[in-house]
Parts: sequence; C-alpha cells; structure tokens
Amino acid sequence: MSLAQTYYEATSPPYSARPQLVHDIDTDVCIIGGGFAGLWVARALQKRHKDVVLIERNAIASAASGRNGGFVSAGFNKGISSIADRVGMDHARALYRLSRMGVEIVREEAVHDFPGVNMMPGYLRVSYDDDAEGTKRDADRYAREFSHDMEFWPTDRVRQVLRSERYYQGLQETDAFHIHPLNLAIALAEDIERRSGKIYENTIALQADIDGVRKAVMTARGTIRAEHVVIAGNEFPAGGFPDLSRTILPVATYLCVTRPMGEKLAQAVRYSGCVQDDRRAFNYYRAIGDRLMWGAGISTSLKRPSDLEEQMRRRIVAVYPQLAGAGIESAWSGVMGFAVHRMPQIGMLKPGAWISGAFGGQGLNTTAMAGELIASAIAEKDDRWRLFIPFGLVWAGGWFGKTYAQVNWWSRKLRDRVEDARRNKKQAV
Ligand SMILES: Cc1cc2nc3c(=O)[nH]c(=O)nc-3n(C[C@H](O)[C@H](O)[C@H](O)COP(=O)(O)OP(=O)(O)OC[C@H]3O[C@@H](n4cnc5c(N)ncnc54)[C@H](O)[C@@H]3O)c2cc1C
Repeated sequence: MSLAQTYYEATSPPYSARPQLVHDIDTDVCIIGGGFAGLWVARALQKRHKDVVLIERNAIASAASGRNGGFVSAGFNKGISSIADRVGMDHARALYRLSRMGVEIVREEAVHDFPGVNMMPGYLRVSYDDDAEGTKRDADRYAREFSHDMEFWPTDRVRQVLRSERYYQGLQETDAFHIHPLNLAIALAEDIERRSGKIYENTIALQADIDGVRKAVMTARGTIRAEHVVIAGNEFPAGGFPDLSRTILPVATYLCVTRPMGEKLAQAVRYSGCVQDDRRAFNYYRAIGDRLMWGAGISTSLKRPSDLEEQMRRRIVAVYPQLAGAGIESAWSGVMGFAVHRMPQIGMLKPGAWISGAFGGQGLNTTAMAGELIASAIAEKDDRWRLFIPFGLVWAGGWFGKTYAQVNWWSRKLRDRVEDARRNKKQAV
C-alpha cells in the first residue's frame, strides 16, 4: 500500500473505469452523484421497477463514500436531543426510527449479498470522564424515549477490551456495525448495472433544467432526459449547481491505517467493533486484523496537511501510549458536506426534482434511508420525506460560515486541552 492510496483502495478489486456519457439518453430517473446517496436511491428505485441512469463526475465512491470510517450506526450528525429541541419529541422519534431503518438497509445488503464488505458488529462509545450515573442515564433515555437498547459498560469492562487509562464507562450500540465502505459501494454499483441500470463515470452534470415536466441534465457530451432527477452530489465541487452548493459547507476530515502491529495491537484493542470517545474533538477507530484504523480532526481547508501522519500518530499515542512507534501505512482526507442545521437535506426541490445530500459525518445509515424515502416518494407517493422539511436549504454562510466552523473546531480542541490539564492536576493531588 502506498501513502497516496487509502486502505480501502489497496484492498478493493482493481478499478476499471466505466464509460463516459457520449450521447443523449432517456430514462425514468436521472441520478447525479455516484456516492452512497446516489447508489442507494438507484437501488431502491430499481426495486420499484424504475429505469435509472446515474452519472458520476469521477469514479464511483471516489469521494467521501469510499474514504470513510465505515461505521454504520443509528442517528444523524446532529445529536438527537438537539433535533428534539427543534422539532419536538414525537417528530424526533420518527426521524430516529428512520435513521435505524437506514442501518437495517445497509445490514441486509452487507450481510446477504456482497463479498469483501467484512461486516463486524458493535459500536462502543467511551467516556473520558468517570461518570457512571450520567452514562446510565443516557442508556435509560435511549431505551425510554427511542426504544433503542444500548448496553451500559462499567469502567472495568471497557478497560478489559480497550487497554487505556483514559477511558471510563461506555455505551454499546449492539446493532451497529462496521464495513468496508468502498467494497460495498462497488458491489452496489455492479448490482445496479446487473439490473440494467446505466452508470457513467467521468461525466459531470454541468446544468439541469428541472422546471419542465420532463427534466434535462446536461453533460459535456450528452443530455439525459428523465421524469425525475435526484441530485446527490454532496458538496458539488468545481462550481456545479451554485444555488445548492451555497447551502453546503465542505469540511475535510482525516483517517489513517497503521502498519501491522501483531500482538501489540491485540494487547491494546481487543474490541472488534467500532470505538468512539466523547471528546469534543473526538477520536474514532477500529482494529482491522492487526492494523488500527484511526479517524480524527476536521478542517475547512480542504488541503491535506503535510504532517498528517504525525498528527494521527500523536492522537493514537495520547490514548494508547503502549502503541508509540506505530508506523502509519496510509493517511488520507475526505470531504463531508454539512448544512447549517447539521441535518441531511432530503426532499423535493420542485415536482420531479429531488435532493439527497448534506449527510455530514454520519452518512452510511442516512444515505440508505434517504434513498428509500425518495424512491418510495417517486414510485408510491410516500410522503415520509416531509419529516425533513424543517431542515431545508439554508445558506451556509460563505466565507463567514467557514471561519465560524474552523474557530468552533479550534475552541473544541482548546476545551479538551483545558479539561486534560484539570484531569492531570486532579490525578496528581
Ligand atoms: C474521512 C471520513 C470519515 C467518515 N466516517 C463515517 C463513518 O464512519 N460513518 C458514517 O456514517 N459516515 C461517515 N462519513 C460520512 C459519509 O462518508 C458521508 O456522509 C457519505 O459518504 C456521503 O455520501 P454522498 O453520496 O452524499 O457523498 P459523496 O460520497 O461525496 O458522493 C457524491 C458524489 O457526487 C459526485 N458529484 C458531485 N457533483 C457532481 C456533478 N456535478 N456531476 C456528477 N457527479 C457529481 C462526486 O464526485 C461524488 O462522487 C465520513 C466521511 C469522511 C470524509
């Protein structure tokens, strides 16, 4: 594996490009974007006997969908309490149920159909503070208000499987899991083609006319005419769809994979699911065989930091000093698209024109859920997508929005440091 490659690219079948669109074509639904948002809606439409054409500006899952942590869990990027504050508890419950439906859609595909997806169960959220009562209260709240059973883990159970003095109690989401996201995306795309869907790569949607009864999506060498268009381009790079891209704040985040560590890793991380800590600038990670995949950090600058490997190594050693010396095999960045309200943008822009985007850092369950909602709206007039109306298209603040997001991130890191100093002082007394 070279540093330029992600772990996922290095462990996927060799890539062979699909053709570019070089002619005009007619279909039921044209989908713009070949990440999970586009793939899931294509698949859900095909199950409802709709003909689909999907266009992707680069390669399938070459953006966030093929570069992420692979954690599939319930909920949204925005915390469920903040969602309830905004829309009320009944509405929040309905949204949470949909987010769990997204997890189940991914599970069905990942378990039954596709090789190389390597599904592993369990998601443990661990606390940096000793607060058993607070963690139990969280577990009770999920059970009571959202009918979702989370398992409370006391400190000694957490430390049996995660050998770090940093951690105290944990909450395990037993029905969450992790996957190889690129292999799942590749398998989904192949399955869509097997069912006679058309996928074109290196094909940018330059413009779309979504006003008429039949829509038209223009690319450099061909136009797609369709009854419906689904725009699933995440952060719309290179200036496509300026009105939509103004509602999205693109934010970079980072992952790395260590070199094989053998017994050393087995001694430190004995949990085979996903782990996330509760720091403001949180870490998330999982063991893959005897390698460790570690994710952390965000930036509104989309340039990959030149010292990314060193930054990630420091993060790992701060939690697991016994892994000092871990070599980083590859480190990469990916871009998440956020709306100001930190919820996905799902719904109808105009009759026949749909959006599925802004999934932020929690896109693996929510893209599958969005695909189901939009496909069932198109084919069956299902109106559950309306639950997302309170989270509409809002200007993301341009330069100001970027600055605000960056300063907010730095202040979260700073507050983590202040809390570390407080903890260290307490331990020294
Ligand atoms: C490093 C990282 C770690 C993450 N970890 C997790 C995790 O563990 N769990 C989780 O749930 N989520 C995670 N996420 C978030 C998740 O990956 C995303 O929310 C999700 O993949 C978004 O899917 P998408 O299809 O909307 O966007 P993308 O994957 O970005 O796909 C959009 C596609 O649209 C194409 N496109 C854009 N404009 C056009 C155009 N004009 N014409 C044609 N094509 C176009 C792009 O080329 C791109 O391929 C992570 C994200 C990152 C970056």
